[in-house]
Amino acid sequence: MDYNHEHKADRIGWIRAVVLGANDGIVSTASLIVGIAASQVAAEHLFIVGLAALVAGAMSMAAGEYVSVSSQTDIEDAEIALEQKHIDRNWAAEEQELANIYKDRGLTSDLATQVAKQLMAKDAIGSHTRDELGITEQSQGNPFQAALFSALSFSAGALLPLLTVLFTKGPLLIPSIVITSLLSLVLLGSVSAKIGGASMLKGAIRVLILGSLAMAVSIGVGHIFQVPA
Ligand SMILES: [Zn+2]
Repeated sequence: MDYNHEHKADRIGWIRAVVLGANDGIVSTASLIVGIAASQVAAEHLFIVGLAALVAGAMSMAAGEYVSVSSQTDIEDAEIALEQKHIDRNWAAEEQELANIYKDRGLTSDLATQVAKQLMAKDAIGSHTRDELGITEQSQGNPFQAALFSALSFSAGALLPLLTVLFTKGPLLIPSIVITSLLSLVLLGSVSAKIGGASMLKGAIRVLILGSLAMAVSIGVGHIFQVPA
């Protein structure tokens, strides 16, 4: 028997956040740059367009992630406070409730009551938070950390099309950005699928299609709204 098997679910949370951030950074910055380039804006403006996209996107990701994780934590804190009230008002019923949870998980009635009594004597709110509400310290996100991670991973993704603008000029610019972006999206999708234990091909094809679509729409819009000559 292999007792050294690894569980992947605990890693998926932050990998998902980092990959999503980088994906977003690549797709939105590349799409913006190729869209503007397709509208015949002078090439020297494209770098500042990309830079603005990086900064704005990173700020927006950070703000969104901060709000999302904070409101989740607020909800959990409110639930814990409510649970504490129930424990203060009705210890016996809460003990019974906890015992029922352990009984449902497979303990005999007597043992479940004993476990509930002992756990509540040691840390009443802790045992209810963990076993009734399902909230653990690991499951509680840190909003600052989440915001920072999102902003950094978005910036890392956005850097790729931005650097391409810096090193490519003329008619090669749009194809270069499209190709480097799609290649890195596929690489990112495959790697994250691999780490998460999911199908690499599925992950790669999904980002390839969605990324192509985003850039194609942007280029189309850029062509329609040309800069007046
Ligand atoms: Zn309870």
